[in-house]
Amino acid sequence: MSNTQVENVVIVGTGCAGLTAAVYTARANLGPLVIEGPLPGGQLTTTSEVENFPGFPEGVDGFQLMDNLRKQAAKFGTRFEQAWVQSVDFTSMPRKLVCGDRTILAKAVIIATGASPRMTGIPGEKELYGGKGVTTCATCDGAFYRKMEVAVIGGGDSAAEEALFLTRFASKVYLVHRRDSLRASRIMAERATSHPKIEMVWDSAPLEVQGVSEGAVSGLKVRNLKTGAERVLPAKGIFVAIGHVPNSGPFASVLDVDSNGYFVPTEGSQVRTKVPGVYVAGDCADHVYRQAITAAGMGCQAAIDAERWLAEHGG
Ligand code: NAP
Repeated sequence: MSNTQVENVVIVGTGCAGLTAAVYTARANLGPLVIEGPLPGGQLTTTSEVENFPGFPEGVDGFQLMDNLRKQAAKFGTRFEQAWVQSVDFTSMPRKLVCGDRTILAKAVIIATGASPRMTGIPGEKELYGGKGVTTCATCDGAFYRKMEVAVIGGGDSAAEEALFLTRFASKVYLVHRRDSLRASRIMAERATSHPKIEMVWDSAPLEVQGVSEGAVSGLKVRNLKTGAERVLPAKGIFVAIGHVPNSGPFASVLDVDSNGYFVPTEGSQVRTKVPGVYVAGDCADHVYRQAITAAGMGCQAAIDAERWLAEHGG
């Protein structure tokens, strides 16, 4: 089934980037249509308190922040539709987004599909994720673990960075890696391995997050892959830092992406792609900063670029 209505702007994604783009394009009277995926509100809805979003000195609940942003977008005329983009055709105008038996037509498209943290899949991880001790963001949640012991899982730059950041709050940081050296860049690896608050737990695979029956993390069971010895690290917070997976799926074949699947904008822009009128914003196009505020900033840039592009091309 095809809908013949051609939208001015279709925004794919309802995280900070997508909803900020919605606020801006709605206020510009473009009547954006936002396509909502399976996790409305994006990654922030899975954290509890957000203490670093400017303007909230007391902090703000992640879910509440996204709910407010959604209301703000709706207030100016944003429409929302639950759908899953399966494929796209950006070869002609209007652009086509195929969602099951419905094809959505758009003059401009803003892709803000986010990224999903890669998880280990060990027992207890899922049960205690989000406010119960398992998290994927030290910048977001590190301050909740003042004077407590925490564990970081991973061996790349993210894990080293998270571990170093956590030393500001935690009494001790276990850095659990399945090899005997970090994959992280040399400078990060040196900083992490020489830090007095960080204990390297080498050659060790995480086995289980403990504390499910108590409803809060009480420890992390690990196994040394060389000796087979098992040990429980008395960590109250577990930071999984084994990489992210950008949600670039159906767009990756028609836009430029790097070897990890992140969108690569055209030179000189953070949000423009090689397809005129098609923009990317937020974590699907940013593996470096990955913050709510930076995603919101990219959403704003994409909206302003889309608005200008539509003004020039008959929006
Ligand atoms: P990454 O480099 O892919 O590292 C992922 C780490 O997690 C690897 O050490 C890997 O172990 C480990 N791992 C993967 N699956 C695991 C599992 N199931 N159980 C236990 N460990 C597992 O990911 P990243 O650290 O997020 O970095 C992604 C990219 O962003 C990199 O290019 C990185 O340089 C960049 N980055 C840069 C900065 C910075 O410059 N400040 C900060 C963050 C990220 P193995 O080593 O055994 O594969």
